[in-house]
Amino acid sequence: MVAGQSRRKFLGSVGAAALTTCLTGGTHAGARVFENGAQKAGALRPFGFVIHGGAGTVERSRMTPEREKAYRDKLTEALLAGFGVLEKGGASLDAVVSAITLLEDSPLFNAGKGAVFTSAGTNELDSSIMDGRTLKAGAVAGLKRVKNPILLARLVMEQSPHVMMTGEGAETFAAQMGVELVDPKYFHTEERWQQLQRIKEAEKNPPPKKSKLEREAAPFDEHKFGTVGAVCLDRAGNLGAGTSTGGMTNKRFGRVGDSPIIGAGTYADNGTCAVSCTGDGEYFIRSAVAHNVTAMMRYGGKSVEQSAAAALERVGKLGGTGGLIALDGRGNFATPFNTSGMYRGWIGPDGRPHVAIYKD
Ligand code: ASP
Repeated sequence: MVAGQSRRKFLGSVGAAALTTCLTGGTHAGARVFENGAQKAGALRPFGFVIHGGAGTVERSRMTPEREKAYRDKLTEALLAGFGVLEKGGASLDAVVSAITLLEDSPLFNAGKGAVFTSAGTNELDSSIMDGRTLKAGAVAGLKRVKNPILLARLVMEQSPHVMMTGEGAETFAAQMGVELVDPKYFHTEERWQQLQRIKEAEKNPPPKKSKLEREAAPFDEHKFGTVGAVCLDRAGNLGAGTSTGGMTNKRFGRVGDSPIIGAGTYADNGTCAVSCTGDGEYFIRSAVAHNVTAMMRYGGKSVEQSAAAALERVGKLGGTGGLIALDGRGNFATPFNTSGMYRGWIGPDGRPHVAIYKD
């Protein structure tokens, strides 16, 4: 069973005044269908986008009103930024990049400025992007100086013959492309640093009866949320997806998770859907989650909701936790997660941003 499973749809019309929104469905599945009350054949064109800010242990009891407001405000700002692009007829990937750069610049999320620390006390950033129309993709991993990794992922896709670049080579390419490089200290935030210290302290007093491997994996259960992602459907009917992360606190030097892996953390295909994942990267890589969602739609004829839920269920069966956002070419989308919460939001043609954090 996938907790937090949700199924929704947004549809738009060329004339915003004709839009009436109706809300149906219960909260368990979170089923909400946004429909245009004045549908005219040919006039309807769904567009919109869905974002996430990471899945993990997010409990109401441990959240202060100020902190919750800060998350909601930033997610709303990102939704409106992307919507602004779409409303003007902009391309899917432009909306994805505008929302993700905003979230990367916020210390609230584990991407860009708020990236978590590796076991060596460094910040190593990963990101990827994919164009559903062309199936072109770009990815970067192990960056230490690139302010906005999603921008570099896009340049790898558009300005190089490659799909993935890592570490120093990727940063040399960034310099050649004029992408902003920062001193690694830019990524230092006190909160993330303290998270690393707490995990290091816990490592010194490991719970008994656990194997060395289990003890090493245990710290990943804490403080891992905050990865950001966006999936978008533009007015031309093109899908796009992007993901950006600092990875997992205390990850080993050089470790790469699912976020920059096309097919694991990110995938987009106009014929099916666009996907961005968050969670225990190792499990998402092993079950090729993002591509799995699209494959179930393409070869299994399943809906985006069914495919997203089934792909996440496989992760859960392996022992992994997390969530994903998936949006199809008709404006149907799903935001399932098997953790206590996932920062997420969506916006359709009515321009009203919706943000959610917990299961209900
Ligand atoms: N999936 C990311 C990683 O494994 C972490 C996360 O989404 O929380 O690097």
